[in-house]
Amino acid sequence: MPEGPSIIILKDAVQEFKGKKIINVTGNSKLDIQRLHNQTIRDFKSWGKHFLICFDDFTVRIHFLLFGTYRINEAKQTPPRLGLTFKKGVLNFYACSVQFIEEDLDKVYDWSADVLNPSFDAKKAKKKLLAAPEMLVCDALLDQNIFAGSGNIIKNEVLFRIHVHPLSKTGSLPPKQLKLLINEAVNYSYDFLDWKRAFVLKQHWLAHTKTMCPRCNIPLIKQYLGKTNRRSYFCINCQLLYQ
Ligand SMILES: [Zn+2]
Repeated sequence: MPEGPSIIILKDAVQEFKGKKIINVTGNSKLDIQRLHNQTIRDFKSWGKHFLICFDDFTVRIHFLLFGTYRINEAKQTPPRLGLTFKKGVLNFYACSVQFIEEDLDKVYDWSADVLNPSFDAKKAKKKLLAAPEMLVCDALLDQNIFAGSGNIIKNEVLFRIHVHPLSKTGSLPPKQLKLLINEAVNYSYDFLDWKRAFVLKQHWLAHTKTMCPRCNIPLIKQYLGKTNRRSYFCINCQLLYQ
């Protein structure tokens, strides 16, 4: 599943279509996607893992779920969920969720919850974490209402960076670790973005998909943890459990 930084990269990659009119619409989405015909794209926005295509009176929300992909100025063999043709160029989305948003985006989205939005509000994130003291940190880092855009890679790498065990409870973290959790969720997301842009993301993984702890030189544990039951990689020697 693309995490927030990958959606920013997509947003950058499609700028050539901003201000352009859609002259043909294809796709197997069950929505009335023909409503996009002859519409002009006003802007592209993102909120966490949501990619937003803005028109005069409504917005199209793309969510890539687990296996969604896109192609710019090319097509895959399989039919797109949504395909947009412009006078110059095409934009195809596959295996994703497509929805219309009729409301003003500022009413739908809390931009300050998006880890890669300049208006991300660390104080608000802290408040949300303290309001759910029993929540496991491995779930907190995947909670889109607190850290929109954060996904499984970000979760594993942030917890490794800050030396915190994934089964720690948010309410049991010392203030210093709580602050680090929030700061590094943002810092790592920007590192992720820079590394992904440079095609060197994977070589910077310290814990995610790794078998050995680079700090302790002992095997990492791989377990499916939390209510989200996602893959966690962690070291029981240098990542402390706060219960
Ligand atoms: Zn270790």
